[in-house]
Amino acid sequence: MLSAQEIAQFTEVCTRIGDEVADESGFVKIRDLLNRFHASVIVRPLLVEGMLASIEERPSNGPQSQRWAVLIDSETYRISDADIANESSSCPLAPRLRNTIAHELAHSLAFRPSEFGITLNHSHGGETKGRFVRSIEHMTEGLSPLLLFTDKALRQLIKGRKTQVSVEELDDLRQRLGISRDVLVARLWRLRVAEDGRFRDSTALRGLGVGIGEWTPDGGARLRSWPLYINFDRNIAPSVFRMLPKQDRLSARTAFPDVDWVLSGGREHKTTFLCEQASQHSNYQRGSWWRPPYRQRRARAAVPFSM
Ligand SMILES: [Zn+2]
Repeated sequence: MLSAQEIAQFTEVCTRIGDEVADESGFVKIRDLLNRFHASVIVRPLLVEGMLASIEERPSNGPQSQRWAVLIDSETYRISDADIANESSSCPLAPRLRNTIAHELAHSLAFRPSEFGITLNHSHGGETKGRFVRSIEHMTEGLSPLLLFTDKALRQLIKGRKTQVSVEELDDLRQRLGISRDVLVARLWRLRVAEDGRFRDSTALRGLGVGIGEWTPDGGARLRSWPLYINFDRNIAPSVFRMLPKQDRLSARTAFPDVDWVLSGGREHKTTFLCEQASQHSNYQRGSWWRPPYRQRRARAAVPFSM
C-alpha cells in the first residue's frame, strides 16, 4: 500500500497542476495538460483503452532524452491531432477520452521524481509487486478528477452563493468542464478529507447529497453506492445516504416510498423523506463519519440524483 503521505503528495501535485493549466473558468484543455506533462498522444490499435509509454530518444548529435506519450486505442477513439489542437471549453473532447488521458498522465508522476518532486518508497515492507501496482492504480483513479475538475472551477462554483447548488447546475458544470458524472461526484467526494474545508463548508456544497443512478426498464431507478457525495451538518441526513454505502444498485422505490416521485416511476420532481442521524456503528464507505445519537426529522428534497 502507498502511505498516506505519498497519497497526499500525489493529491497536492495534481491539484496544483489542474489549477495551473485551467483557463479562467476552470476548464482544462487536454493539449495544455499534455504540454504541462511534456507528453503527446499517439492513436493506434491497442488491446486496452489507453496506456502510458516512455520513449527514449537520442538525436545524432545530442544527449539521450526521454519523452512521454499517452497511447490511445484507435478503435475506441477516432480522434486526430487536430481534434486535440482545436479543443475548447465550448467544444470539449469526449469526457471519457479526457479522463483516460488525464489518468495516464497522472500515472507518469510516479516515474518522474525530478520533474514533479514525488518519490515513492519502493520497498513497501515485503508487499508483492502485484499488490503494490494495484494500490497505485487505485490511487491514480482518484487523481484524474483533480486534474479535470479544478480548484478554480470549484472556487467559481461556490463564489458568493447563498443557496446550495442544484442538480441542474452541477449537470451544466459537468458539461462545461467536459467531465462525466462519475468524475464530478468523485471529485466532490474527495472534499470530505480535504484539510482546507472552504469548499466542503461552503453554502453551495453543504446540506447536500449527490449520487448517480440508472433508470430501470419499468421507469424506476437504481441508485449506485459509488461515487457518492454526502455533506450534511451534524450528519443528519436522508436515510438513503445511510443505506446506499452498504447496498449498490438500491432500488429508489425502497429508498423513497413516495410512488409519485420521478425516481420511483412517478412524475413529481420533489419528495419529502425522513432524515436521521445514524448510529455510531453505521460505517460510511471509505471513512466513517456518522456519529450518535440517532435523530429523525422530515425534509423536502428535489431529485438529488443526476441521471
Ligand atoms: Zn491506470
